[in-house]
Amino acid sequence: MKCPSCGAISGGAIRHRVIDTSPDAQGGVRRRRECGVCGCRFSTYERAIRSTPMLVKSGGAREEFDRDKLIAGVKLACAKRPVATADIERLADRVEAYLQRLGQSEVNSRVVGQRVIEELRELDAIAYVRFAIVFLKMNDLQAVRDEINRLLEDSK
Ligand SMILES: [Zn+2]
Repeated sequence: MKCPSCGAISGGAIRHRVIDTSPDAQGGVRRRRECGVCGCRFSTYERAIRSTPMLVKSGGAREEFDRDKLIAGVKLACAKRPVATADIERLADRVEAYLQRLGQSEVNSRVVGQRVIEELRELDAIAYVRFAIVFLKMNDLQAVRDEINRLLEDSK
């Protein structure tokens, strides 16, 4: 914490003493401090910020990352496949961790679908193709067939 007046940074021998703590209107915390060097008083604000970016949909609307929705979509793709629910949950965790690592406040919602597709490819080829048909809007059989051929090539 840097004093806005003299620039002294708290740490080691320098302490900016907290003289008052109160909630602020945005659900955060406001602390009144006194600089340990020059004695001036200043306030700091502590607020929780979202670490998972907002998803921007194609129409421009924003929505929060919804882990349950993602799991429901992947479960659908994995119906009757030998994929454990725990594996699907771990997949969702990895997708969310990936989004957080991007370190952005907003990302295109397609990033989520693409990441899921990559994960599913490792997990189960059939679920992968099902999911890809829906999310890549593979609406012609040729595209589906090309993808399946690519998978079959890879598994050789
Ligand atoms: Zn100071």
